[in-house]
Amino acid sequence: MNEERGVAADCLFCSIVAGDIPGELVASSDVAIAIRDIAPRAPVHVLVVPRDHVGSVHDLKDPDAGLLSACFALAREVAEAEGIADGYRVTTNIGERGGQSVHHLHFHVLGGRQLGHIDSGSPEQPA
Ligand code: AMP
Repeated sequence: MNEERGVAADCLFCSIVAGDIPGELVASSDVAIAIRDIAPRAPVHVLVVPRDHVGSVHDLKDPDAGLLSACFALAREVAEAEGIADGYRVTTNIGERGGQSVHHLHFHVLGGRQLGHIDSGSPEQPA
């Protein structure tokens, strides 16, 4: 574990992982938890959150392959359990300009309706 890992002070998702702030747990593993998003953008909107604090995908290092694989395994488990395995999206935002509002790595698992293109905006205009 490097110095960025473990628990970060004033981190919402670290507090949910620790049980200090409630979250609707959908599934969990040794590496990550899956909680329902508090402001869902689709009928199924679950967040896969690694237990260790990592800022975003941009902060991952080569040895984090196991963490990533465990997050995707949990996303797959969520998709099966939620009945959306026939089609869903796993996405992650990086930095404020990339739309990230909680700076603890998480993967959105979205499904349960027909999803549009990844971003329907033009090169200059936001969707
Ligand atoms: P992002 O904007 O990609 O960083 O995603 C953060 C997500 O966390 C948003 O979709 C929020 O709706 C969600 N969120 C914020 N607070 C909570 C909370 N207490 N429990 C569950 N989801 C939350």
